Amino acid sequence: MLNPKEFRKTAHEFVDWMADYLENVEEYPVKSQSQPGDIFSQLPQSAPDKPEEMSEIMKDFQEVIMPGITHWQSPNFFAYFNANGSYPSLLAEMLTATLGTQCMIWETSPAAAELEEMMMNWLRDLTGLPSEWHGVIQDTASTATLTALLTAREKYSEFQVNENGFENFTDFRVYCSTETHSSVEKGVKIAGFGKANLVKIPVDEGLAMDAEALEKAIEEDLAAGKKPLCVVAALGTTGTTAFDPLEEIAQITQKHKIWLHVDAAYAGTAFVLPETRHYLKGVEHADSYVFNPHKWMFTHFDCSAYFVKDKDALLNTFSILPEYLRTETTGKVNDYRDWGIQLGRRFRALKLWFVMRNYGADKIREEIKFHLDLAEGLVGKIEAAPDFEMLTPLTLNLACFRFKPVGLEDEEKVNELNAQLVAAINKTGKIYLTHTKIRGKYTLRIVTGQTNITQKHVDNAWELLKEMARGMV
Ligand code: PLP
Repeated sequence: MLNPKEFRKTAHEFVDWMADYLENVEEYPVKSQSQPGDIFSQLPQSAPDKPEEMSEIMKDFQEVIMPGITHWQSPNFFAYFNANGSYPSLLAEMLTATLGTQCMIWETSPAAAELEEMMMNWLRDLTGLPSEWHGVIQDTASTATLTALLTAREKYSEFQVNENGFENFTDFRVYCSTETHSSVEKGVKIAGFGKANLVKIPVDEGLAMDAEALEKAIEEDLAAGKKPLCVVAALGTTGTTAFDPLEEIAQITQKHKIWLHVDAAYAGTAFVLPETRHYLKGVEHADSYVFNPHKWMFTHFDCSAYFVKDKDALLNTFSILPEYLRTETTGKVNDYRDWGIQLGRRFRALKLWFVMRNYGADKIREEIKFHLDLAEGLVGKIEAAPDFEMLTPLTLNLACFRFKPVGLEDEEKVNELNAQLVAAINKTGKIYLTHTKIRGKYTLRIVTGQTNITQKHVDNAWELLKEMARGMV
């Protein structure tokens, strides 16, 4: 087992490995080429009885584990939404692990609680959110959305479901568009509303929620004696970064006194740029809001920023005070265990502090603008190519498009071709992209949000795509 002296030596070696890895990350196949079971079959069936040397463990890490890693920090990673990181964030994670604090209440590390409060204020102001909102870090947007649904449930049942169960509150209804992230459906199921009470509202041409259809659905539910509880509006859907019409939706939720939760998990980072904030119009009427610095704001996973208007409703929903957690400061400070589901909490505010200080707001804005420009440039090329077509208008930095050879009109064949293209490209290991389906059309997605992405990476990806696609027909 490592002693302090060996720890120091090994830690220096590891930092060298980390720096080398990040500098040379492009040398690895972006998407792991492992087959199911490849890694599992190389692992011993049980934990060793005797200590093993760190050099042996590291050797296995490199030989057994690394081939099964997909390289999310590669600038050639264009898949899903990025989960980008940065040097300051990484250094903060090292300190967080070193401190090993468990930040469930103020007393278990006052600095963690107070830094979290200030970091949420910084993020709120940096992204143009209402200054009276209160923020708390959650692990993921899924958890934040569940937290919103539970808080809405309690506020609108006058905290009776928490006390007595659902007996008198069986007809709550939740609304989101057909394009909204699956975490809403998961949250509805966990919160006990039942999937049948999640109403999926149709979308318009641009894949944004049809606000008229929302109002109609709410009115029909009211007429049928049901209780409209919460609307989840998406700012930047997962498939295509479509933006639900927040202002119109907010008017409806105001009129009918319904909780409005905003899911801006990916797009929220874009609002560091004032020119994108037209999408935020109406946000002051929201009751809760989530965005993930762990997606696009150079902060390592996990770190999800959750904001609420009514802090008391949140605390009344989650607060439980067993004797062993009672302290002299209870009620006078932020005990973040009361701001969400879990008791134990990581010290996540530190990496936000490091990122926002080491980058500075100007540099964050500059980088995000650069990512938007990269996508715009790529879309220009896609539109100019006779055998490619955009499938949705560009809203931020996600291009949704497909290969469509001139003259090939059979939609099924076009879909097959594009599916084969994605599989073949990802097999090269040179770039990694994923797909969605838009109205039955198999759609290629390219997200330009990596920390170290340059024009060259996007150009190379486009050349590779064109070459491979054209080689298939
Ligand atoms: N909401 C949207 C719009 C997303 O795109 C995603 C993930 O990509 C999520 C929620 C879920 O995020 P998390 O993994 O933080 O739960």
